[in-house]
Amino acid sequence: MKKHNFYAGPSILPQYTIDGVAEAVKNFAGTGLSVMEVSHRSKEFIAVMDDAQALFKELLNVPGGYHVLFLGGGASTQFTMVPMNLMQKKSAYLNTGSWATKAQKEAHLYGEVIEVASSKDRLFNYIPKGYEVPSDADYFHITTNNTIYGTEIKEDIDCRIPLVADMSSDIFSRPVDVSKYAIIYGGAQKNLAPAGVTFVIVREDVLGKVDRSIPSMLDYRTHIDKGSMFNTPPVLPVYAALQTLTWLKNQGGVAAMYNKNIEKAQLLYDEIGRNKLFKATVEDEADRSIMNICWVMNETYAELEKEFLDFATAKGMIGIKGHRSVGGFRASIYNAMPKESVEALITVMREFEKNN
Ligand SMILES: *Cc1c(COP(=O)(O)O)cnc(C)c1O
Repeated sequence: MKKHNFYAGPSILPQYTIDGVAEAVKNFAGTGLSVMEVSHRSKEFIAVMDDAQALFKELLNVPGGYHVLFLGGGASTQFTMVPMNLMQKKSAYLNTGSWATKAQKEAHLYGEVIEVASSKDRLFNYIPKGYEVPSDADYFHITTNNTIYGTEIKEDIDCRIPLVADMSSDIFSRPVDVSKYAIIYGGAQKNLAPAGVTFVIVREDVLGKVDRSIPSMLDYRTHIDKGSMFNTPPVLPVYAALQTLTWLKNQGGVAAMYNKNIEKAQLLYDEIGRNKLFKATVEDEADRSIMNICWVMNETYAELEKEFLDFATAKGMIGIKGHRSVGGFRASIYNAMPKESVEALITVMREFEKNN
């Protein structure tokens, strides 16, 4: 039976990436060696790093003055690196979920933190609006896609102070105006590569303003100066990222991918809205994520939750259990998820409705 992979992360990758990595694990770039056992300073791997950075910039239209870094440590290390490198006295955070909360927590180690707004009052099922960002803060931090709760800030917001965004789970899912951000970062394991590499897009002019001493490994300038080769980079995930970026370009780039993503998400939200058993957890359509679609049983059918999960799992729907803090269901439909898998899930939802 075909398995449809709806895991939230690590998550589905293009077959192109999996095949490319499988080949390079055995024989990398005709060297007769595995990509896992080749020096990161070899000309073959340097070409991989250069190509991955160049393609990343090309696909996102990264303007001059920005650097693209591939680091270790996950998005969670960026929760620390951002305040350490940018915060002189004060920072501002928008609290839209548990990742946003974790990011904010680290900033407290480096100065005053203003939480400009929070959607915690309704279990993060909406994006706060109409908040004021203090103009004397050193930066404003947002989490564009809230992987656990299925909300997303889909537009690039205007901000008078440097804007920092965690885009772990929606990078490359939609066009982004990078020029509106000072830093964009994320773990690669949602839409780009296996776990182990973290991407950072950083505008050079926001650096060098803090007085504190920054450990070399946590200083963006170290990695900018060495082109992400200060220490051994995560070679295999970087190789995989290059495969995914190549695939994305072959698919027509980010704008084409966005259209497909909108179509997939709309199909699923429409079915959740139509099906008498279910309802979406995020009511406001403007706030709904196109990557992580969250829904629960309608009250009348609440007792069928486990039954639906078992039914869907038996039909090959993998990873649709909602995060433990929300319950219900979550289908993560990242770039690599084909429309056919979304349609297969919808068929299962309809079958279950008929049976009940
Ligand atoms: C998964 C995720 C993270 C955590 O990433 P790690 O690489 O595991 O540290 C952070 N932010 C968001 C929005 C995520 O989806």
